Amino acid sequence: MSRTLDVAIIGAGIMGCSCAYELARRGLKVGVLEKDTIGAGSTGKSSALIRQHYSNDLTARMALHSLRAFENMEEELGSDGGFTRVGFIAVTSAKDHAGLEANVALQHRVGIHSELLAPDALREIMPHIETSDLVAAAYEPEAGYADPNLTVNAYADAARRHGAVIQLNTPVTDVRFSGDRVAGVDTPDERYDAPLVLNCAGPWSAQVARRAGVELPVNACRAQVAFLQRPEGHEAPHPAVADFIHATYFRPETGNITLAGLIDPAEADAVVDPDDYNELHDDEFMLDVGERVSRRYPALWESRAAGGYASLYAITPDWHPIVDEVPAGSGFFACTGFSGHGFKLGPAVAVMVADLLTRVADPEFSPHLFRLARYAENDAVQGQYEYSIAG
Ligand SMILES: Cc1cc2nc3c(=O)[nH]c(=O)nc-3n(C[C@H](O)[C@H](O)[C@H](O)COP(=O)(O)OP(=O)(O)OC[C@H]3O[C@@H](n4cnc5c(N)ncnc54)[C@H](O)[C@@H]3O)c2cc1C
Repeated sequence: MSRTLDVAIIGAGIMGCSCAYELARRGLKVGVLEKDTIGAGSTGKSSALIRQHYSNDLTARMALHSLRAFENMEEELGSDGGFTRVGFIAVTSAKDHAGLEANVALQHRVGIHSELLAPDALREIMPHIETSDLVAAAYEPEAGYADPNLTVNAYADAARRHGAVIQLNTPVTDVRFSGDRVAGVDTPDERYDAPLVLNCAGPWSAQVARRAGVELPVNACRAQVAFLQRPEGHEAPHPAVADFIHATYFRPETGNITLAGLIDPAEADAVVDPDDYNELHDDEFMLDVGERVSRRYPALWESRAAGGYASLYAITPDWHPIVDEVPAGSGFFACTGFSGHGFKLGPAVAVMVADLLTRVADPEFSPHLFRLARYAENDAVQGQYEYSIAG
């Protein structure tokens, strides 16, 4: 690889690869340095739900932009990301009903196709869903899920076609500065000079930032996923569901499988060393998530546990990312901390980051909400629910 770049990107997950694509498409000379392989971090193990249920104008618009990108990926990137439309249902308790209504109203304002459904109408969409504890639910017919490995490789290949170089098995060991400006990055074998460096290292991003003397409040947290084999009579795919009452999400996977995980604030407490953690699922987790999901989809009481795994979320204090130049004016940018819900936002994040790095005066997606200083300013991102993954 040429050792002089316009932008050096650290990490080849969805963020590193989508940003590489967007920056290379705009004519910048981009190099992506990845310590392992494409999608080796959170991305490759993402549940990859593509929904638009968010509480802020910015995140809702980004989710909509990204949904359209997933739908048109083959046309734009030359290969598709395995987007499968199954629809998405969000259910909340009566206490969060006003928040649910507010989110649907926001969705309508930004052009998202979403409906507030009474329990009867919800059962027409998903006949086997338990609704006795519900006042209403939000339904997005256009939502679905993607294949995270196909998606990240589609971005990587498209970035390469625009001239980006992606170096695998190449850990960044140092971020170099010249005075107040970033000057490049070092790997065990090479020095790369670049006036712009983008930290897309996900769960490792705080370590990477520390090499440049920057503290980022991003923890690597263990998050588990379970596979449940649906019983006979339930072979047809069901919509994806986020159940804020039982703090769980689930979606169909190929082979009559339902994939399930938690949406539980306690996941932020499971801080681990991203280079040394248990990648297997726990038996207790399988029982717990199986029970939570079965309360919403009772047919799954008869399901069979079909394995699972653990991976990493990169979690910030408000479960929202940091997309910012830190320190200001340094040329060293953070694009990290997507806290368990970043995959779907990847296409829009690429536009946000490319506008930021190329100093576009009137960006489509202003990164102001995601600035690092919000924590010190006591202005963290707020969501409609206690658990701000939908913030
Ligand atoms: C179990 C699970 C379920 C999820 N479900 C969803 C979902 O349904 N919907 C959704 O939108 N999001 C979901 N997410 C979140 C989403 O997957 C992440 O937010 C997203 O993938 C983060 O991408 P990233 O590029 O920031 O980080 P990563 O994919 O972690 O990429 C970081 C990369 O940086 C590399 N790296 C680290 N340090 C260095 C270094 N020093 N030098 C070079 N390379 C380095 C790593 O090897 C890695 O490849 C889920 C995540 C998990 C784990």
